[in-house]
Amino acid sequence: MPLNMLKTHLWLRILVGMVLGVACAVYVPIPDAMIDWVILPGDIFIAMLKMIIVPLVLSSVVLGVASAGSIDALKRVGIRIIPYFIMTTAVAITIGIGITSIVKPGLLIDQSLMGEISAPAVDTSALEGLSVPQRILNIIPVNPAEAQLNKDMLQLVILGIIVGIAMLSIRTKATKTVENVLVFTQDASMMVVNWAMWIAPVAVFSLMVKAISSMGLSAIAGMGVYMGCVLAGLLIMMLVYLVLVRVLAQRSALGFLAGIRDAQIVGFSTSSSAATMPVSMRVAEENLHLHEDIRGFVIPLGATINMDGTALYQAVAAIFLCQVFGIDLTMGETLILLLTTIGASIGTPALPGVGLIVLATILGGIGVPPEGIGLILGVDRLLDMCRTTINVTGDLTASAVMDRLLHPDDVKGAV
Ligand code: ASP
Repeated sequence: MPLNMLKTHLWLRILVGMVLGVACAVYVPIPDAMIDWVILPGDIFIAMLKMIIVPLVLSSVVLGVASAGSIDALKRVGIRIIPYFIMTTAVAITIGIGITSIVKPGLLIDQSLMGEISAPAVDTSALEGLSVPQRILNIIPVNPAEAQLNKDMLQLVILGIIVGIAMLSIRTKATKTVENVLVFTQDASMMVVNWAMWIAPVAVFSLMVKAISSMGLSAIAGMGVYMGCVLAGLLIMMLVYLVLVRVLAQRSALGFLAGIRDAQIVGFSTSSSAATMPVSMRVAEENLHLHEDIRGFVIPLGATINMDGTALYQAVAAIFLCQVFGIDLTMGETLILLLTTIGASIGTPALPGVGLIVLATILGGIGVPPEGIGLILGVDRLLDMCRTTINVTGDLTASAVMDRLLHPDDVKGAV
């Protein structure tokens, strides 16, 4: 029976790969000459997913917008989804601030560690020196080719929305032709996802070997309480999502979890919402049966700007470092922290580890020396995996909720 289950359930094979990967990293010494070979399947897997991100984002957003049917219908999604994203992010940050203020993990840190803090090995230069108006201007895809080259997701989503609106406004024979090309692009991209999922169990094995070997188990032990706060916060956020799924999307919470499992596991093992997006699109279509106008629009947009796990993590890390450095935040400063973290999580690219880099800009705002990042760097990888899982879950929850709100009479999708 278990063997049969392994044959029929992809998620189980992926889970087995994950467990074996952790065990291998801990117990089997891998010779240096072999390490590149061991991580090759993981790198190939991520490369396959990344390869289709640009065509998939563009075709999905354009088709998602166009399938709204009219500009008015599009507005109906837009005016709901943006406040929804901001609300859930604010809830995530509040949970993070709450837990860290109650548990106070920063006060438990051995002060002798402080001497060992070294400057972080992260490059924050790309994020510095830009004023808010410049950042706003930067989201306009002035050069679409450059946006594709840089895989600038936000610019690609904006480009997709603009082309989609144009398609809604210009109804000619040519529009239909373009639509057909985009449908094929989307289908072909999804086919690549299916192929990638075939090697997912082996890929996840090698991604876990890579992650655990680079973390070092001793670094994890000293920071246990801080990590516990992040993980507890993420868990609470997951419960919030399940309540939203039950109450707003009117779906079975367990059915929803089962439906999105593949995306969660890929999010966990790749630490990248962008790389996971193709898998999220797949589960939204095949398992959750969401309407195209919703999944095509909300998932790429969510993967880009809706990062509740990252926001929660950044809030916990910021408060933790305040405690470590003896900085008391007033109510006003905490509010500023909340607002800057909302902005920062929106601006965080959906890539591994960048939540930590963006955190540096938040810390500056509340007077924490950015060197503090050195303290949390060692355990970032594991937390990144967990927060990315929540980011991915948040996007799928948002899609399920919007699907119910905007297609209330069509219950075919309910799991
Ligand atoms: N890795 C996260 C993501 O892709 C972003 C981060 O928090 O570093 O969703």
